[in-house]
Amino acid sequence: MNSQELKSRIPEIVEGLLPRLNELADRIFENPEIAYEEVKASKWLSDYLEERGFQVTREAGGVPTAFKGEIKGASEGPAIAIISEYDALPGLGHACGHNIIATMGVGAAAAVAEIVGELPGSIISMGTPAEEGGGGKIKLIDAGVFDDVDAAMMIHPGDHNVTFRPSLGRVKLFADFIGKPSHAAVAPEKGINALDALVTAYQNIGLLRQQLPSDVRIHGIITHGGDAPNIIPERASALFYLRTRNKHFLPELVQRVRACAEGAAQAHGARVELREDPLSYEPFRKNPEMCAIFGENLRALGTELDDVDIGSLGAGSSDMGNLSWKVPAIEARLAMVPVDVAPHTAGFAEASGGEPGRKILRLGAQVMAMTAIDLLTSPERMQAVRRSFENSP
Ligand SMILES: [Zn+2]
Ligand SMILES: [Zn+2]
Repeated sequence: MNSQELKSRIPEIVEGLLPRLNELADRIFENPEIAYEEVKASKWLSDYLEERGFQVTREAGGVPTAFKGEIKGASEGPAIAIISEYDALPGLGHACGHNIIATMGVGAAAAVAEIVGELPGSIISMGTPAEEGGGGKIKLIDAGVFDDVDAAMMIHPGDHNVTFRPSLGRVKLFADFIGKPSHAAVAPEKGINALDALVTAYQNIGLLRQQLPSDVRIHGIITHGGDAPNIIPERASALFYLRTRNKHFLPELVQRVRACAEGAAQAHGARVELREDPLSYEPFRKNPEMCAIFGENLRALGTELDDVDIGSLGAGSSDMGNLSWKVPAIEARLAMVPVDVAPHTAGFAEASGGEPGRKILRLGAQVMAMTAIDLLTSPERMQAVRRSFENSP
């Protein structure tokens, strides 16, 4: 059977899986669990994959709420991973739609599994916890969980149908300024004001922004500013996020912000300790070939890509970026909400738990299953995806 015939069976297969998938999406929505606490979601998703015939490794890579479900085809071939995220947001529940990402991921893999006996290679359903700030995928990459994967794909619900949306590299920089305490009225001249050093650093960074590329974002907060107004602050702390679309500029950006903090500390006779979060996010490495295959399949399902200026859209950061530098990857968006509804809001949560989410679940499972079939059955296309990965800036 050729790939077109195999792909033509997918919509009906997904239709058959939908009642269980919708029920899973609702259950995860009603039981939101934040980063690294997704005990129920990872269990329910793993149970589902086992029901569908997958060999499931729970706690994949030593991460308690990760999983890797695998099912092998009839012969040797590439391993295609479909990514599920399932962490919720503190206080907001599933306001980023990860209950839908989770279920359309396992749904797409389960749909391919139905015809896996007629396919080469293998299909992997990868459960990756803690996307919201916890860097779950980075831990899985470091543990070697993706070493046998040839390509990876995911869909995030959004406000447009696009195959690519830029995401920014991100470093979290913790800054602790250390001065010397003294009575602020009786003997201010005997103190070294750590808060003053921090405020100077904050202003240095504000001025630095003028000379940075326009894609750079720096934002920070003061996490500790002293203990009482009548004590010269001995300690003051801040946390800054440094972001850029340019992976190669990120180290220089970090260096320049460090200099802002170090110069400020020196100006006040204080000291500064700077620490980077080891789980830094990388900007997304676009794979035009995979985007093209995904777009063809979406069109075949009767849904058009939106004609939008991708560069004009706002961008955040995701650990999918790190994965996109490890293996060829795509993180497409399907429109679940109108453009005026942003992720991480109550409106986005409402859509994720209702009919708009279900619509995306069905379409997303179909288009990813079809894209996986293209990659499994066509060595030429898989090779083109690999070349696209190697040539991407
Ligand atoms: Zn989010
Ligand atoms: Zn998200």
